[in-house]
Amino acid sequence: MFTIILVSSLITIVGASLIYDNTKKSIRNEIISAAHTLETLFEMKYPGDLNSSAYFIYRFGDTIVVAEDFYNLVNHISCSEDMEFTVFYGDTRIFTTIVNPIGSTPVGTKAADYVIKDVLTGGEESVYDNVDINGNIYMGCYIPIVSSDGSISGMFFAGKPINLANENAKAVILGFVIIAAITAALSLAFCIIFTERLIKDLREIKQYINEVAAGDFNAQLSEKALERDDEIGDIGHHAQILCANLRDMVERDPLTMLLNRRSCRMKLDELLETNSGYTVIMADIDYFKSINDTYGHACGDFVLKEISALLKSYSDKYGGFSARWGGEEFLMVFPEKDIQETHKIAVMVLDDTRSQRYSFENHTINVTMTLGIAQAEKGETADVTINRADSLLYQGKSNGRNRIVI
Ligand code: GH3
Ligand code: MG
Ligand code: MG
Repeated sequence: MFTIILVSSLITIVGASLIYDNTKKSIRNEIISAAHTLETLFEMKYPGDLNSSAYFIYRFGDTIVVAEDFYNLVNHISCSEDMEFTVFYGDTRIFTTIVNPIGSTPVGTKAADYVIKDVLTGGEESVYDNVDINGNIYMGCYIPIVSSDGSISGMFFAGKPINLANENAKAVILGFVIIAAITAALSLAFCIIFTERLIKDLREIKQYINEVAAGDFNAQLSEKALERDDEIGDIGHHAQILCANLRDMVERDPLTMLLNRRSCRMKLDELLETNSGYTVIMADIDYFKSINDTYGHACGDFVLKEISALLKSYSDKYGGFSARWGGEEFLMVFPEKDIQETHKIAVMVLDDTRSQRYSFENHTINVTMTLGIAQAEKGETADVTINRADSLLYQGKSNGRNRIVI
């Protein structure tokens, strides 16, 4: 914000001084062209060489109005353009539109020495910023009047009171400064709003990352931060992906992508906290060691993944969850289901396992499982329920495997 204020102030100062210079320049050009207009009008009205006796002297208050129509014409331009005009015969003013507040005119007075030197003697068209006429300061242009023999017989003058020229420039600058100030204020307001939104979204992402880092994988990131179509929005999306990956690494078994034992226990604790009843199936693949021994460890991994996918599909379908409890041992949990309902699911799982033919590197493998089912009794810990299911499972193993024990 400090930068915006600094930069807009600099732009305003530099811009204002450029505008001031340009306005002065354009007033200068205006004065030069006004002096030439006077020259043209005069030559049209009085063709030939300038000879004072043959012309006029217009004096305010005097009755000598030899050139009233010329005066009226020039005075009209003078009033409409805020410009004063003078005709010099030699160095003497013989005609002028300048009238000071007390009513006198400088007709009959002489040009300043430097004007005589530059214009009358030097023959140069000259522009001055500070010409003192009758006590008033003008910005003015003098043009030499050249006779047919080449001599300089007088001068034309057009000028603007310097305070008027400055006022014109000031009015233009004031307009510019007002526009610059409004633009700077709008930019500042926009910048404040934009920055506040940016900081708010960044803080929310930071808060989200902090929560995830503290182990809260259920932390939520605000939709506003995610809706952003910029780098902040990207950071938000990446933070979410990071959270999901971290969650998987912490909560899931890398081979089967089922919940690991630790996160399964946590979920069971949550169920116990909410007093929701549940039933568990402890499932163990029969003679799994021999699959490893016969077809290799990679084949064993493959079978583990296939069985895991099967268990997950059933737990998802019936509102439960599955975990890899040990090597080839799995726990399925079904909240708010009793033994009978869970038994039906176990039957379908075992049937599917039996009927499935697992193909791995030209080998077709048949798999069976033994399952123990136990329902959580009121007040007992998850370990007690799981141990009961485990005992039933081993009962099944002892009795020939490939079966369900309730
Ligand atoms: P049972 O019918 O009594 O359950 O016999 P089993 O062979 O299935 O049981 P056992 O406990 O004798 O052998 C389990 C084997 O599972 C031993 C171990 O090498 C294997 N195993 C454990 N984890 C993995 C794994 O991640 N990948 C593979 N390929 N094998 C594993
Ligand atoms: Mg086994
Ligand atoms: Mg086992």
